[in-house]
Amino acid sequence: MVLPVKRWLTSTDFKKIMARMQWDKLLLICAGSVAVMGCRLYKPPSQLPVASSIVLDELVIYSDFQLPENHRLLRDLEAMRERLTTTLALRPSNAPIEVYLFKTPRRYYRFLARRYPDCPQRRAFFAQNGSRLCVYTYWGDQVSEDLSHEVCHGYLHATIPRIPLWIDEGIAEFYEADRGNTGWNPSQYDLLITARESQRWQPDLERLERLVQTESLTEMDYAEAWLWAHFLLTTSEVRKALLREYLADCGRGDVESMSKRLSRVDPNYGQSVQQHLERMRLNDVFAP
Ligand SMILES: [Zn+2]
Repeated sequence: MVLPVKRWLTSTDFKKIMARMQWDKLLLICAGSVAVMGCRLYKPPSQLPVASSIVLDELVIYSDFQLPENHRLLRDLEAMRERLTTTLALRPSNAPIEVYLFKTPRRYYRFLARRYPDCPQRRAFFAQNGSRLCVYTYWGDQVSEDLSHEVCHGYLHATIPRIPLWIDEGIAEFYEADRGNTGWNPSQYDLLITARESQRWQPDLERLERLVQTESLTEMDYAEAWLWAHFLLTTSEVRKALLREYLADCGRGDVESMSKRLSRVDPNYGQSVQQHLERMRLNDVFAP
């Protein structure tokens, strides 16, 4: 059962947060801790929006404005965790995920410019540094999708800290638009269909698996990662089981690639994923 607790921060809370910041600085200076970049760029935070906080089990949402504790967005994030954990058979984790929610884009981008001057201007990002899992974004028109995507990274990294990039992004894209209810992601689908129609793209899982830097991912890579996740999760129980086993092995450090695993059960899996995309196109009355 989930018991939401909303509170204004006390001085004790501030001391705890400051203690965490100092500990992070020590890690970075003394241990040379390497942050995960891109969606996950990390340096010690400052100017954080911590006036208010809501605790929803492992999710701790800090904000610089008062967020209604029963806001639908928060319920959706909770429901997403349950759906994600069940669908992917993830090992339970009680690692906290800190979400920092700014009231305005101006405050968020000012924070970004001060703390992450080299970071691309993204509306939201996820940062993993050691055991700390943090999401940063602002309250805007796309906050629902942005939070779903980044918090999904948090849930995944809480149980699989070294999850491969392609499936990390693929699953986050799958859960982004409707919290994984159907996994449908219209913007990524449109990108793929348009590129395929103009013969600018073919799915290539082995190529995607070789990409390990978030900064090197293109729009098409995110879209293709979504397609593979959608293919694995929605087309057959065998493929879904394959993904569950793969993620469980990733959690144990086993890294046999998904392309090798797929090729054992379906030597023509490249054609199968194209057929999956084609079936989606045939069902789409707006497709070219
Ligand atoms: Zn991402």
